[in-house]
Amino acid sequence: MGMNIAVLGAQWGDEGKGKIVDLLTPHFGIVARYQGGHNAGHTVYVNGRKFVLHLIPSGILHEGVRCVIGNGVVVDPQALFAEIEELARLGIEVGDRLLVSEKAHLILPYHRELDVLSEARRGERKIGTTSRGIGPAYEDKIGRRGIRVCDLVDTRALADEVRENVNARNQIIRDSKMEWQTVYEQLLAHGARLRPWTGDVSLALHDAMRQGRRILFEGAQGAMLDIDHGTYPYVTSSNASIGGACTGLGIPPRAVHGVLGVAKAYTTRVGEGPLPTELLGDLGERLRESGQEYGASTGRPRRCGWYDAVAVRYAVRVNGIDALALTKLDVLDGLEAIDICTGYRVGDRTIDTFPADLNTVGPCTPVYESWPGWTAPTRGVCRYDDLPDEARRYIARLEEVSGVPVAVISTGSDRAETIIRDDSIAARWFPAASVHLA
Ligand code: GDP
Repeated sequence: MGMNIAVLGAQWGDEGKGKIVDLLTPHFGIVARYQGGHNAGHTVYVNGRKFVLHLIPSGILHEGVRCVIGNGVVVDPQALFAEIEELARLGIEVGDRLLVSEKAHLILPYHRELDVLSEARRGERKIGTTSRGIGPAYEDKIGRRGIRVCDLVDTRALADEVRENVNARNQIIRDSKMEWQTVYEQLLAHGARLRPWTGDVSLALHDAMRQGRRILFEGAQGAMLDIDHGTYPYVTSSNASIGGACTGLGIPPRAVHGVLGVAKAYTTRVGEGPLPTELLGDLGERLRESGQEYGASTGRPRRCGWYDAVAVRYAVRVNGIDALALTKLDVLDGLEAIDICTGYRVGDRTIDTFPADLNTVGPCTPVYESWPGWTAPTRGVCRYDDLPDEARRYIARLEEVSGVPVAVISTGSDRAETIIRDDSIAARWFPAASVHLA
């Protein structure tokens, strides 16, 4: 039986999961996404060419790898087709390597409108969503009125569902009246086009596992944006944490043999919500510029701050993270001193786990340790021993305060700019990974 590994974000998303997943994909037969929608934005550079994928797992860039979109994902058919076309333009044929769950819920045109409307209504308290209709599509799913991929087959029942849904939405979105027939006809066309790619994902994964094929479970967003365990309500609408892999694909927990958490060597977050270690001045700007911290999906500037070990430790606990892939170490090159947040101070107390109540997070002050920076660049370094002493010391301290070893270190955006530590669990998960890199 092959070893299946989940790769998920251990912070607030944008940790560089795209690059790590892309790097590890050659070790797997299947890459499966389990939650989120086309709000995710994975940027991958291959031979200097830039690919941004929102919905289809980046595994599609590798010949022979099958990509799966699970029932936990919400699918905007138009976005999916656009991505398939874009890949074709770049010379990558999706062919029969893509499987979309027949149980996945669809994002419909009115979901996008509802998203914009709901943000406008929240005013100052807006979540900062990507306005792609993801949240409203999940609302309909939980409200038991969602339309799934498999519903596109029974045209009579679909017509009733669409009429009811569109009419109900028109009560809410008063200034843009949508014709249910238009939505219905569009859905029929989407259904016909989608059909070759749809099927029973749970069964396909089960069969693949029986044949000994390895699966990489790919999380979108990050643990701190999880609907249940993140900084609610400033979260995404799905379970980005490990539980989502089981419910979002129809696989048992024992099918996940290891969890690799991806964390940046500092912290970022896009949109609203708490970010205790946020740096508002020049240092924040410095991290944003050297890390090119602008959203892959929306281009929004990301908020930047020091590494928050409280948040990562929390993500490690909730997700059973076995090891970290530490990304963007090179962005810290040239800083005189680097801080690590090890706890939060609230009044006269120090807390070392992430609180549920945002009223507690708001007034908390991070407790920092200051570590010396390094002058020699880490950019592009691909052997651990070639890292400056200070960088190795910084990593060793991150391991201590995060409670988990750092198995992979990323020192640049290219696949080759990576260190897989010989003595780490990653070397067991991905034998000869360093050979692949060379
Ligand atoms: P994801 O959604 O978690 O995959 O993150 P994004 O793709 O939005 O952000 C990652 C960005 O950082 C991409 O532009 C990557 O090419 C880039 N990146 C990933 N790892 C590194 C690294 O180690 N160093 C640098 N400088 N950039 C990196």
